[in-house]
Amino acid sequence: MVVLVSACKRENKEAAAGGGTPAPTEKRSGGKIALLLPESKTSRYESHDRPHFERKVKELCPDCEVIYSNADQDASKQQSQTEAALTNGAQVLVLDPVDSASAAAMVARARQSKVPVISYDRLITNSDVDYYISFDNEKVGKLQGQALLDKLKADGKDKGTIVIINGAPTDNNAKLFKAGAHSILDGSGLVVGAEYDTPDWSPDKAQQQMEQAVTSLGKDKIVGVYAANDGTAGGAIAAMKAAGVNPLPPVTGQDAELAGIQRVLVGEQYMTVYKAIKPEAEAAAELAVALLRGQVPEGKVNAKVNNGQKDVPSILLPPVSVTKENVKSTIVADGFWKAEELCAGS
Ligand code: BGC
Repeated sequence: MVVLVSACKRENKEAAAGGGTPAPTEKRSGGKIALLLPESKTSRYESHDRPHFERKVKELCPDCEVIYSNADQDASKQQSQTEAALTNGAQVLVLDPVDSASAAAMVARARQSKVPVISYDRLITNSDVDYYISFDNEKVGKLQGQALLDKLKADGKDKGTIVIINGAPTDNNAKLFKAGAHSILDGSGLVVGAEYDTPDWSPDKAQQQMEQAVTSLGKDKIVGVYAANDGTAGGAIAAMKAAGVNPLPPVTGQDAELAGIQRVLVGEQYMTVYKAIKPEAEAAAELAVALLRGQVPEGKVNAKVNNGQKDVPSILLPPVSVTKENVKSTIVADGFWKAEELCAGS
């Protein structure tokens, strides 16, 4: 709680100061950019991705319009939203696909209209996308697996039984998180008592899966839980609390959601992975505006990622592992959440 109290007292000057690159002085005409996000149960999309993207587009292109839609985890709804955006005159698509594979049809449809597509956060596989902007997602899984393993070693429980709750099998990122986590946990001596994929990344489904794991393995048997993000971690923790698991074993997460960080601060969740959404959303906005203007932006491209069809020019950002000890020096220092916001729910 010491960490929480000091984090709560800290004034967040950096967040108030704002930031970002200055707007270009040259006057340019507007245009339409579509931002298509996959779901709204995970809070990052509405609280970080969308506002940072829209603000950056406005700054770079005051006359541009952002056509925004959220698919609520429904791939066919996202297809209709893409169609609607193109009909409405979108000249660039920034698409975070519900389903990494079936979204290839949306890229083909955009191509017919000569509209470039940026694959945002999740890779659109086997498609002719123009750019991909994300984090090093295998590293995310490695950070989660490593933090869990280190904690269990420190507690002398690294020969115990763990439960693994992965993300949605239709999300290419979920595959990468899973591969990264397994590369650390497999062969470590830990026993995987149960492992689930979580359709739609649904926290409710994660809760049901964890209830099932507790029932079949026994409530005192589980020494740790790998949960792929904060939503699934929240579901797993709720299930264990309801079943009377006490003390709670270490649980991983991802996204530095407000509820996730608050659980980390009170000791209910062991860690989360902080991904700085602002630079991700801003890089997408910069690329989208450049593509709208017919430019070929290469500035921040730092990787090539093969999507099964081509090597996609990519911008990959680094994820950061966060426990109670470094909430202040990462999330609060970066202005991702203000100390007062973290304290509000505690
Ligand atoms: C994102 C995560 C998010 C998850 C559920 C992943 O593709 O990278 O940040 O928690 O989807 O929306």
